[in-house]
Amino acid sequence: MSSEDEARRLDESDPLPTLRGEFLVPPAPGGAHAEAAYFAGNSLGLQPRSVAARLREELDDWARLAVEAHTQGRRPWVGYHELLREPAARLVGARPHEVVAMNSLTVNLHLMMASFYRPAGARTRIVIEDSAFPSDSYAVASQAVHHGLDPAAAVVRLKPRDGEDNLRTEDVLAYLEREGDAVALVMLGGVNYLTGQLMDMPAITKAGRAAGAVVGWDLAHAAGNVPLRLHDWDVDFAAWCTYKYLNSGPGAVAGCFVHERHVRDAAVPRLSGWWGTEPSVRFRMDPDIAPPASADAWQLSNPPIMALAPVLASLEIFDRVGMDALRGKSERLTGYLASRLAPAAAEVITPSDPAARGAQLSLRVRDAGGLVRRLAEAHGVVADAREPDVIRLAPVPLYCTFHDCHRAAEALVDLL
Ligand SMILES: *Cc1c(COP(=O)(O)O)cnc(C)c1O
Repeated sequence: MSSEDEARRLDESDPLPTLRGEFLVPPAPGGAHAEAAYFAGNSLGLQPRSVAARLREELDDWARLAVEAHTQGRRPWVGYHELLREPAARLVGARPHEVVAMNSLTVNLHLMMASFYRPAGARTRIVIEDSAFPSDSYAVASQAVHHGLDPAAAVVRLKPRDGEDNLRTEDVLAYLEREGDAVALVMLGGVNYLTGQLMDMPAITKAGRAAGAVVGWDLAHAAGNVPLRLHDWDVDFAAWCTYKYLNSGPGAVAGCFVHERHVRDAAVPRLSGWWGTEPSVRFRMDPDIAPPASADAWQLSNPPIMALAPVLASLEIFDRVGMDALRGKSERLTGYLASRLAPAAAEVITPSDPAARGAQLSLRVRDAGGLVRRLAEAHGVVADAREPDVIRLAPVPLYCTFHDCHRAAEALVDLL
């Protein structure tokens, strides 16, 4: 059997048939194939077909009802964000009152740090990974400055060992054991954006909290990619965007998790706005806030309904499929792509252990930008380049197929 037939057979026999038909797959750049083999879903997920109708309903309610749609719309806008609560809670393993959809990711990280990064005495450090996404680096440095601290001293960037690309859990735990008294906040990425490494979130959360630090996770590349149990892991807070694996469109409304021990704690300081008060008293226009015992207390503004509608449509897909089934398929797809890339002798910097990675393979190459251009133009394979020398491929289990992986592997073996 040819490797192409083999890929088609895998697509036909997989226990989770592809949901590609529910997404709008762009045409292949270059025209050699009808559809792109799309591996950039870790940058921007594809559009679910159900999004357009959802948006049109809200546009219609706005046209038909205007201000009355806040209470009379088919999904009344005053409580619209509540519709996302339960599916978002299921997605990240939270209790419903621990999650809220609001703002964007970096904004939520700042709101969380305003509440939970409270340097005191010798406990001032924020621990991130050396390969943190730049927005996270800027956010933590500016928080340190905000507290009158020198970010060069306050921000600790954990590096892999010499010659290695990924952080070892044991090294993170050893740092927390050794230096934990000086650490105020541990805020790593659950899945690293560059390498695709899946961190041991339960172990690191436990060690960070045992050291007396607050532990928050940036789940930009983890939400919708790997199963999460934020409540049971005892995570203090987390935030994630919804336009990567969650397919909710560019700049879509992000998610936020606050552990229930904090939502009930009146002593936690917050930056507040009117959407963070009890809905029953919100329109009394009282100058004193009455925050609910839920993550909603961190909301500031009335939410952008047009930006929430795609998130709701997308979460319905995740609810229907379930993260455990998706993760199973994700491991099969990424494992298949890894095995097919072996003949290219490419340097894969993503962990080879399926339990230590998400739906991503990152390759160290020469001229990443040029390679990604050739993949697109000659083969219709959409990947992404992190200059100077890394390309990333995300076999997203909702819409990528074994046949897409076959196309990517053939193209890479050819070009490398
Ligand atoms: C994608 C990503 C961001 C992007 O932040 P926005 O506020 O959504 O623009 C931030 N951090 C990480 C780790 C990311 O992967």
